[in-house]
Amino acid sequence: MTEDKKKTVAVVGSGLAGLVTAYLLHNDPQRRYQVRLLEQKNQLSLSSESISIPVPHDKKVIWADVPMRAFAGGFYRNLIRMYDYLNVRYRSQPFLFSFARLPRRPAAPGVTIWPHMTHASNFHQIPPVPLKLGLVSWFFEVIYVLLCYLWFTVCCHFVAPHEESPSSQCESLEQYLQRIHLPWRYTADYLLPLMSSVCTCSHQDLLNFPASDVLEYKRRTHRQHHYLVDDGVQTVQEKLARGVDVRFGVNLTHVEPGSKGVQLRWLDSRGGKEKVEVFDIAVLAVSPDIVASMFDPLKATLCKVPMTTVESVAHTDRSILPPLYGTVVKDTFVPRHPTRSDKAVQNIHFRSNDENTESVHEQPNSIIVTTNPLTPIDRSKIIRYAKFRRVLRNPESRSVINDIFRDEGRSNGWRNGDDGVYLAGGWCWDGMVLLEGCVVSAMRVASSLGVEVPWADRDE
Ligand SMILES: Cc1cc2nc3c(=O)[nH]c(=O)nc-3n(C[C@H](O)[C@H](O)[C@H](O)COP(=O)(O)OP(=O)(O)OC[C@H]3O[C@@H](n4cnc5c(N)ncnc54)[C@H](O)[C@@H]3O)c2cc1C
Repeated sequence: MTEDKKKTVAVVGSGLAGLVTAYLLHNDPQRRYQVRLLEQKNQLSLSSESISIPVPHDKKVIWADVPMRAFAGGFYRNLIRMYDYLNVRYRSQPFLFSFARLPRRPAAPGVTIWPHMTHASNFHQIPPVPLKLGLVSWFFEVIYVLLCYLWFTVCCHFVAPHEESPSSQCESLEQYLQRIHLPWRYTADYLLPLMSSVCTCSHQDLLNFPASDVLEYKRRTHRQHHYLVDDGVQTVQEKLARGVDVRFGVNLTHVEPGSKGVQLRWLDSRGGKEKVEVFDIAVLAVSPDIVASMFDPLKATLCKVPMTTVESVAHTDRSILPPLYGTVVKDTFVPRHPTRSDKAVQNIHFRSNDENTESVHEQPNSIIVTTNPLTPIDRSKIIRYAKFRRVLRNPESRSVINDIFRDEGRSNGWRNGDDGVYLAGGWCWDGMVLLEGCVVSAMRVASSLGVEVPWADRDE
């Protein structure tokens, strides 16, 4: 097909959803699409906050991903198939989690916050006894936690959450936990810290999630390994964007479908000038608040999708970490190649107050990444500070989003693909807002446009 016969496609946003969509359409075996990827930043965004660490006496750099971009078997089926297809190297990563409660008033600098429990991901080892906890107290706490965990796991598999009905919304996590009588202390000290760190949101935000999201995540990841990409997600980004026409500094402001195609308006961040261009198809791979601001048919509905802002700080302030497992406390930052031992266990500390949990991830390259920081960090030891917008979920937003992506049946308003406009993103599916949703929604756009997805599971 000649260039001018090809359909022109604008993919807006270079997070994972935009990158996968652009990759699939650009690599259409029938070459029917001329794809342009538009991004407001001056670089592709999937790894824009990752840190490249030059290795002394070596031309290579190593990457520390911020955020971590971890994934797990079971839940991330399409992401894993895509990584396999693209030959992205990833490794199974065991974690040791520690749980601690923060004092009501911020602890003075240098005061150690001792954990009350440790847990090995997937039970890959017997977790060490937290240093300041007596063996007997620890033993009784372990029994309590195990019993609650078992009860929650059984319920996840056998007690289905209430689904949406014509008279009511679906059940929230808070309602579900009350219904199954999960003890509040377990919820507050273990379930909320762990799951709110996965969703990087407050405890109440998580309790507002549809119960089905959390149960589905738990069911699918049960006894599965966690994984990390070996050389950082910049390798994924590189492979997906290869050959795609990418324009940076494009701040899209308005999307308007018309008889001649979809008109996009944007501000060029370099010249500040407004530009207008018409494409046959537009794929908006941006968060719902941005879609609402630029695309009139979804203005009213997507305002109902809750969002939050998350801070991540990469630093080397080890003084905030308890010497949990006899780890050697190094206060200096030593860039070096990952070694075999780096692929061993990594520590993640969850430290909570009543409303929030900070998660502190010790990376093997001496960098610590604190997400949602609650404990003060020595400013002189901060390497990078990043803010992310995060899409949340609740029963109402679930219903709104499902309506947009429903293939058939009842739907009152605009549906995905109407007028040549498509949506993609971690939030564009019926599940927790994670990388799997990016891949699933991008695959959906490709399938709607008749493009074969090379890693699709034909049996699904
Ligand atoms: C701290 C943190 C940790 C996380 N950890 C994990 C994890 O370990 N595992 C996991 O699976 N998920 C994780 N997630 C969630 C996951 O990262 C997101 O779900 C996913 O990155 C969303 O990708 P996306 O492509 O939908 O959107 P985004 O990555 O938000 O991409 C949207 C893009 O659109 C661009 N854009 C926005 N507005 C405009 C405009 N007007 N014009 C042009 N471009 C625009 C943005 O610059 C951005 O590049 C984490 C999220 C956060 C915040």
